Amino acid sequence: MRFYSTRNRSEPYGFAEAVVRGLAPGGGLFVPEEIPRFRSGVAASLGSMNFQDVAYETIRPFTADDIPDAKLTDMVCEAFTFDAPLVLLGDSSPDTGGRFVLELFHGPTAAFKDFGARFMARAFAYFRRNENRPLKILVATSGDTGGAVASGFYQVEGIDVTILYPKGRVTALQERQIAGLGGNINAIAVEGSFDDCQRLVKTALGDVELNKRLALSSANSINIARLVPQAVYYASAAGALKRRCAASPRVFCVPSGNLGNLTAGMYAAKMGAPVDLFIAASNINKTFPEYLAGGGYRPRESLATISNAMDVGAPSNFERLSSHWTADELRRLILGASVSDDDTRAAIAEVYGEYGYVLDPHGAVGWQAITRLRGKNALYTALATAHPAKFAHVVEPLVGPVKLPPCLEEAMRKPAHSVTIASEYGELKAVL
Ligand SMILES: *Cc1c(COP(=O)(O)O)cnc(C)c1O
Repeated sequence: MRFYSTRNRSEPYGFAEAVVRGLAPGGGLFVPEEIPRFRSGVAASLGSMNFQDVAYETIRPFTADDIPDAKLTDMVCEAFTFDAPLVLLGDSSPDTGGRFVLELFHGPTAAFKDFGARFMARAFAYFRRNENRPLKILVATSGDTGGAVASGFYQVEGIDVTILYPKGRVTALQERQIAGLGGNINAIAVEGSFDDCQRLVKTALGDVELNKRLALSSANSINIARLVPQAVYYASAAGALKRRCAASPRVFCVPSGNLGNLTAGMYAAKMGAPVDLFIAASNINKTFPEYLAGGGYRPRESLATISNAMDVGAPSNFERLSSHWTADELRRLILGASVSDDDTRAAIAEVYGEYGYVLDPHGAVGWQAITRLRGKNALYTALATAHPAKFAHVVEPLVGPVKLPPCLEEAMRKPAHSVTIASEYGELKAVL
């Protein structure tokens, strides 16, 4: 399988090269030359396979030239030590539009980014196996993705991770997830903003002298090795739903920010997973829903909301989506919806009142979008991208106390160890 930059179709890359580079030269995103199909027989049996087997079948067509089959088996078993249960809320009768929640928060940091981060870490380790210098990965985080990256790379051999976060501007839990692991995960608290952290990382990655001494890389969210593993839970869930009720179309509603999750879903559908339609649910950062409604693509500054992992005004994976599908195709395959904070809170309260089930603000954006758009004769699945306890400040005033899952409780018990620096490149360089 060959990969190309979204901005340059003349130069092919292998999967390994695309992963290690992260971003294509010129700033494009890596995409497969063609989205592969499942091997024959696989699409029809997704509903009876276990999660690791679905993972193997979904990822293998992208990686077959670069990762031996036995190695890939090990990698998916090590990465996916948890699965993604489908929970039925209420009535599953398709004529009333049965509604499910796909829980993507059973990984170690209780958010769906664990799927991508854990596979990407193992891919990096494998592609660096013959290098004797450890790879130093630099990441800037505003709080949310830092934990998934830290946990994904924790104890992965041959790799050191340094995470920069804005001092005093992340939650206590986020700080523990970033700075509580130790070992190969180093945390740096920067006296400044997230933008300062990002600037420092960019400067280090571009520092020729430093790059001679250290093998530096980044683990950014647009890495193709983070995207592909996210197709797995769509394939697995769509197979399970089809098995349950073959006659009903299956609609997946994706709470969206940078559109990585949605793009992965579109890959799964194209591969042959039985998904009929997507809903892209955004908060008031509605660049993509406006585009789907027939407006142009107009990126803008982001606005702050209670579903803050989706506060994105210029979604990076739009470039990937539009390299595979035309505007007309996207508008046929995806419905858009934009949900305000008030409607998000209303959905959390309503789902709790009706089913005793607690959604986090991101999942609630998806649920509200389904409530608006659903018709009869289909099964609707809202992706729950984070555990509600991660957003207790939003959720608890609406539903009362929410218990931390064991992984977060354990994280809270670990003291955070980080080095504090001023937001000056000289200080970062000295630490590195
Ligand atoms: C990152 C994130 C999202 C948005 O996912 P994209 O792939 O950026 O669209 C939604 N919910 C949660 C909890 C997230 O962390």
